Amino acid sequence: MSGVAAIGIDAGSTTCKLVAVDRGGAIVSSRLEQTEPRVEVQVQRMLEATRAELGVDGEVPAIATGYGRKLIKDATRNLTEITCHARGVFRDLGRAGTLVDIGGQDSKVIQIGDDGRPVDFMMNDKCAAGTGRFLEYTAARLGVPVEELGGRALSTNQEEAISSTCTVFAESEIISLIARGADPDAILRGLHRSLVGRVVSMVRNVGIVAPLMLSGGVARNEAVRRMIADATAEDVILPRDPQLMGAYGAALLGGTA
Ligand code: ADP
Repeated sequence: MSGVAAIGIDAGSTTCKLVAVDRGGAIVSSRLEQTEPRVEVQVQRMLEATRAELGVDGEVPAIATGYGRKLIKDATRNLTEITCHARGVFRDLGRAGTLVDIGGQDSKVIQIGDDGRPVDFMMNDKCAAGTGRFLEYTAARLGVPVEELGGRALSTNQEEAISSTCTVFAESEIISLIARGADPDAILRGLHRSLVGRVVSMVRNVGIVAPLMLSGGVARNEAVRRMIADATAEDVILPRDPQLMGAYGAALLGGTA
């Protein structure tokens, strides 16, 4: 396909995403896989599959972002996730504002300016408690698949407060709650509240310029979106495919910008 402008690669700590865009900036192909230990080998395989599917060669620029971006030898260049998420979401939603990106191992609050570039940001990559990992540990402990967590948390009005601010201690708290016969859905609701509390305090530190927007894999969790909206009294809007926004932004910046 000669209309392919660029391929964006988001080599994340949890998932690897590839997005190809045409010259108009529309997505023509996408792939998402759990990140494997040899991310450079995995990305090479995904790139070859994308090129074969679209009938293009290595001449099409490939722009890498994400945690593992510097390992991707085949990339034409690499860009930060902050720049790429901002660009992807700006293009998809057409709005400046405050973007919250919650991935598997970090979370970020990014102010997107009127031209789609980040004007300010804050990042948490030190503590798992404000990230998708926090919910994944819980999911494993309660035997609930990650894609069902949000729905289960929203299925009850009961809530078990989780007081620990650390993932490891929160897990011990969950074990005690289970032993006391607490409702797993009420535990899940408390865990979501705890994650959202941490994210919202970061949002307040950066300051909210409406609208609030959400990207990253955790944006697929409806309980997170609703609880952020409740805590901030703001509408929270999502791009079409929030988990692909980093790869999409990278592709846009490599092709049509
Ligand atoms: P990264 O880019 O940091 O590798 P992602 O943005 O892909 O991470 O986010 C991964 C996280 O997204 C996982 O930790 C998981 O909590 C969450 N997630 C992935 N898929 C879903 C889903 N269908 N529903 C809810 N949460 C999800």
